[in-house]
Amino acid sequence: MSHAQVNLSRRQLLTRRKVTDRPMLPWVKEAQFTDLCTQCGECVKQCPTQIIRPSDGGFPRVDFQLGECTFCYQCAQACPEPLFLPKTQPAWQAKAVIEDSCLAKQKVDCRSCGDSCEPFAISFKLAVGTVAQPQIDMNSCTGCGACVSVCPTSAITITAT
Ligand code: SF4
Ligand code: SF4
Ligand code: SF4
Repeated sequence: MSHAQVNLSRRQLLTRRKVTDRPMLPWVKEAQFTDLCTQCGECVKQCPTQIIRPSDGGFPRVDFQLGECTFCYQCAQACPEPLFLPKTQPAWQAKAVIEDSCLAKQKVDCRSCGDSCEPFAISFKLAVGTVAQPQIDMNSCTGCGACVSVCPTSAITITAT
């Protein structure tokens, strides 16, 4: 394999990782998604928090910059295709991750994400010589995304685990 081919495969791998690391829709069968989704837009219409938007060639996807997922299951119920798992299954294996652009990591006091987290998955740990640092309890985080849009530096991403 030539150097150029290696570079291309590596780039494709990285691109694919970037896309699949973020959840598409809760309970969706991701492997069959692009084959079965007709882009009818029923899930977009039904989402009460209006976080589902067309992206990636018209396929619907949650956008946590618009709000949070309440796990109401209405997107799954509205979908006419056999695309969603039963509600008894986990909605997704996605968790919040705090990047280095977090204000607290720059020694600026901020607790917005903690205030928005209903399951109290984000706590702030006092630290010597800096402000309290956010910590996410991965067992409590549901990946709801409520912390994403409130972060002033867009430091939080919801990432597949
Ligand atoms: S489960 Fe409810 S809140 Fe979450 S994306 Fe689907 S319709 Fe929207
Ligand atoms: S809201 Fe954002 S900047 Fe503020 S503590 Fe949380 S991650 Fe850091
Ligand atoms: S994704 Fe939801 S549960 Fe997880 S830390 Fe953010 S607000 Fe809390």
